Amino acid sequence: MSASLARREPVSVVLADETDFAGFRRAARALAAQGVPPEAVMWFTATDACNALFATQASVFAEPGKTAAVAVPATFVALCETVVQHDDPQRFALLYRLLWRLQHEPSLRHDPLDADVLLARQMARAVRRDQHKTTAFVRFRPLNDGSAGPLHVAWFEPSHHTVEAVAPFFMRRFANIRWAILTPRRSVRWEPASAALPEGRLVFGPGARKEDTPLADAGEALWLTYYANIFNPARLKLRMMEKEMPRKYWRNLPEAELIAPLAAAATERSGRMVAEAPTTPRRKVVTLARAPTPNGPAQTLEALNAMAQRCRECPIGEHATQAVVGQGPREPLLMFVGEQPGDQEDLRGQPFVGPAGQLFDRALAELGVARDTVYVANAVKHFKYEMRGKRRIHKTPAQREAAACAHWLEDEIRLVNPAALVALGATAARSLMGEAVAVTRERGQWQRRADGRPVLVTLHPSALLRADPAGHQQAWADWLADLRCALDPPKLLVRS
Ligand code: SF4
Repeated sequence: MSASLARREPVSVVLADETDFAGFRRAARALAAQGVPPEAVMWFTATDACNALFATQASVFAEPGKTAAVAVPATFVALCETVVQHDDPQRFALLYRLLWRLQHEPSLRHDPLDADVLLARQMARAVRRDQHKTTAFVRFRPLNDGSAGPLHVAWFEPSHHTVEAVAPFFMRRFANIRWAILTPRRSVRWEPASAALPEGRLVFGPGARKEDTPLADAGEALWLTYYANIFNPARLKLRMMEKEMPRKYWRNLPEAELIAPLAAAATERSGRMVAEAPTTPRRKVVTLARAPTPNGPAQTLEALNAMAQRCRECPIGEHATQAVVGQGPREPLLMFVGEQPGDQEDLRGQPFVGPAGQLFDRALAELGVARDTVYVANAVKHFKYEMRGKRRIHKTPAQREAAACAHWLEDEIRLVNPAALVALGATAARSLMGEAVAVTRERGQWQRRADGRPVLVTLHPSALLRADPAGHQQAWADWLADLRCALDPPKLLVRS
């Protein structure tokens, strides 16, 4: 089949392998630029051997004059990178369809409820879950292959094509040992740094068979003894355990064979534990002093400020200079919510005026947003810190402290009435959504609160201040990309 892109007849594209994101990107850009509609493209990978014979190799699109830039949101690129790891053969068609629609239906980027968007996000979630399970449930066994040290080999059966994506995790974690992970579709081996190989090397290969992994060793017997001893029958929640560690993974986990007998004996063992006298003194339960209960929620922001100043519903209020409530106009498009006031904010009584606030101001300036058009507030109203010498060092508020403060934030949202909210960091995200949010995973995506308001989650600016200097530029660009999304909340979700 000719590689010409000027035609309109069906085009078949073959990608180099199951996770050939670069090939997909190249081909999709070229096809979109040439106006080839999604229904005219068939996507294959090299493993679809028969079909591949008649298809256009994706590498053709790398030839001069065949590529073209296509503008899409940064979050779409990240979504594609994850979705290509999914096992569904239709994933490339779905992504190309989304790319096509982004070019022809500008409203799509504001429609989080579109069926294609939802499907792609669902696939991305499944991939991330699979990556997480791989990092949690891979178990290595040493194999003496005649080299200086043993080769640690693990057999695993991921549900998606995630081996390449998780390999760097194991490389960082086990940098100094030789290891290999074998899976039915792909394998990866790590060669640690040596004189001949100063950086070390990851080597990817084809799939393997379970029989290629070594048998249990003495180290594994030790692990099983340890597991049996730390098993706490009083904490056994089999259904929860199966949710976190689905049974399909059990066949490759050495400790799984212990679960059934330990679970069977759990009732009797926990009964014994309860009957035995405690060996450690009971922890003292501290009762929190409550502020004089206000007569119902505040009716104005000024009243809320006055009431928060007196609040002692958690211990933080005792030590801070003052409560710091938010600042900004009523009924703004956006209300940004951070974690808590810092040292400067505590002294000046204003939110976001310290180093993190300056970074926030810089970001708004780069995005062309005047600070006085948005409302900025914190989830926790008093400054929590610890003394180091003469300096007050920020301390993250405990979950129960943030929970105690949540009603002030809710009152503030009600009185300010923003169209949409931006959670800066995990504490703000939890306070706004009422449950823990995996910020690094969910960042840059719109979610919906119980009250219907859209919430976009991203990092707190202080996380950028703490970032590895080598990655500052990228972290800054990624954060700006998140904030740029915030400027354009989904129209379906904001109030009219
Ligand atoms: S941090 Fe919040 S809950 Fe704790 S005392 Fe201050 S205002 Fe009250």
